[in-house]
Amino acid sequence: MSLLKIAIQKSGRLSDNSKKLLEECGIKFSNGAGVLKTTAQNFPVELLFLRDDDIPQYVEQQVADIGIIGENMVVEKDKDINVVEQLGFAHCRLSLAIPKEETYTGLTYFMNKKVATSYPKFLSEFFRENKITAEIEEISGSVEIAPGIGLADAVCDIVSSGSTLSTNGLKEVETILKSQAVIIGNKNLSAEKLEILSGLLFRIRAVKNAKENKYILLNAPESAIQKICSILPGMKSPTILPLAEKGWVSLHSVVKEDQFWERIDQLKEAGAEGILVIPIEKMIL
Ligand code: ATP
Ligand code: MG
Repeated sequence: MSLLKIAIQKSGRLSDNSKKLLEECGIKFSNGAGVLKTTAQNFPVELLFLRDDDIPQYVEQQVADIGIIGENMVVEKDKDINVVEQLGFAHCRLSLAIPKEETYTGLTYFMNKKVATSYPKFLSEFFRENKITAEIEEISGSVEIAPGIGLADAVCDIVSSGSTLSTNGLKEVETILKSQAVIIGNKNLSAEKLEILSGLLFRIRAVKNAKENKYILLNAPESAIQKICSILPGMKSPTILPLAEKGWVSLHSVVKEDQFWERIDQLKEAGAEGILVIPIEKMIL
């Protein structure tokens, strides 16, 4: 029986969440310091711990069958691979930033400027599409200090809160890519490996759906059921159980995390009381 080889980042911003996702999918593996390769105990996968920069190439060459990396790395490396699934973590953006005291005049600001980045391929493509002639200075890390030390006029780097830019006297002026972690896959996986991947994706989607939804329980007068059901469509339709108190019911359903606060206000208005909201561990649709 073959094993599906999964490449994940060895240490960095993706590694904890990648390992956590696999663990939440019920996959057990040992992960001692210095271990570069391990086989899961209860699922036909082998894990390879690598630098994120190398993962697209390894997946293309099928050293690994699939990998977990940021979309920013997928576009920069531009390898012949498939993006299989978005994972909903490591949200960040690739942005252009300039010194705070400068006045930003639009993209033409970058005309004939020197821009430091670890994303030379993607940035030069972006400038080419926007007809900007700029010099790109490729550096592999700590890009945000480049203007401060006279290495460049501006930077193009990964931003999440923007605090690193600000600490280094820079301001974000353009977002050129929005990114999150994704699963990438080799294009020629065997039928057997595709079957393991499909089993893994089934589990990943159950974990993701659970995170995006909450279980909600509430009490309401019978007369409010119809109104409440229209606010809470649920997976199919809400469960309604009678309460000991006559004329009252307990109503159970599922609500999307991002619609949560808005729905709670509507529910209270419709007559709901004693509202409980509970996290869901797995959700299979
Ligand atoms: P490696 O040693 O594996 O090459 P690295 O230093 O190049 O690691 P990290 O800083 O660990 O990379 O970032 C890995 C990925 O995490 C990035 O490519 C990006 O997709 C995402 N990422 C980076 N910074 C943030 C952030 N501040 N918030 C959320 N996600 C981020
Ligand atoms: Mg890297």
